[in-house]
Amino acid sequence: MFVIEYKVKASKTQYTAIDEAIRTTQFVRNKCVRHWMDNQGVNKYDLSKLCKQLGNEFDFAKKLNSQARQVASERAWSAIHRFYQNCKAGIKGKKGYPQFQKNNRSVEYKATGWKLDPNTKKHITFTDKNHIGRVKLIGSRDIYFYSPDQIKRVRLVRRADGYYCQFLINIEVKERLEPTKKTIGLDVGLESFYTDSDGHKEPNPRFFREGEQKLKQLQRCLSRKQKGSSNRRKARQKLAKAYLRISRQRSEHAKRLARCVVRSNDLIAYENLKVSNMVKNHCLAKSISDVGWYQFRVWLEYFAEKFGKVAVAVPPQYTSQECSSCGRIVKKSLSTRTHACECGARLDRDENAAINILREGLRSAIRSVETCS
Ligand SMILES: [Zn+2]
Repeated sequence: MFVIEYKVKASKTQYTAIDEAIRTTQFVRNKCVRHWMDNQGVNKYDLSKLCKQLGNEFDFAKKLNSQARQVASERAWSAIHRFYQNCKAGIKGKKGYPQFQKNNRSVEYKATGWKLDPNTKKHITFTDKNHIGRVKLIGSRDIYFYSPDQIKRVRLVRRADGYYCQFLINIEVKERLEPTKKTIGLDVGLESFYTDSDGHKEPNPRFFREGEQKLKQLQRCLSRKQKGSSNRRKARQKLAKAYLRISRQRSEHAKRLARCVVRSNDLIAYENLKVSNMVKNHCLAKSISDVGWYQFRVWLEYFAEKFGKVAVAVPPQYTSQECSSCGRIVKKSLSTRTHACECGARLDRDENAAINILREGLRSAIRSVETCS
């Protein structure tokens, strides 16, 4: 599944209609969560039934396409399901008890409720009684390259700088590549984006630093403005736009790099870092690179699937302490940049870790083959 995105151009009343559809989505989702809280043994199908019922009960809910309403209940269910999964897995601390959503930004249609203009190819009409109507799509990629049944979902998203229309497309093409006969281990760092098992350090893109400075500056600017003033609103808008720009650059970078790494290796091993721990970080530069890393990992797995390669996540323990040539544990603090072992091994700390990650990745790949046969 991948996404093609266009900017939406419409009239003020149409934007209001989109807002309304987004609000209805949130309403239905929250009603479903409420229903689950208040009743025992509620399952996915009960929520889907509730969806229909809400349409009969509330006029504004009825206006939204019935499948779009279903998507809203599916969102509620996925929050509940995630909670159940966390409980089952015995995760310590917060298990993500489903919350009521307050800031939903999107509405999602399935196969009905919308129609692409076959002539202009750059307009989409929303046909439900929510009356969004016909809007213009601005973007360079041609959606008509894909057949309509490959478009699984259409999503309208509100962002700081306007409205967007996303098409979720399902393609099952796998590309055939010649084996590269190469394997690689990747160690994440702050100084460089990653260090690989050959000792190559992939530098952090410049916008990590530049973006951080820009955000800091805009944040300062915002905090100087008087509460409730229109200048404050403008400053907030500016900050939100800057965030958006950085997150776009970040995902573009993550995707490009992941594609390149997967194409030039047959097996890619990396640390299985917990995202929940990473995102909590307050240091801005760190959080920018953390999210970048998370996206990079998602793309690694996507491209590995697409190109028929192996991507393995290994547990992060001991990778930096263990000697990559003899296996001894060599304790070092964060500031020690070189790994030096009694056995004579002497190399960059991160390269040492990357080699350990690769070795562990190969081990666990072999284990998974053994359990399959
Ligand atoms: Zn050693």
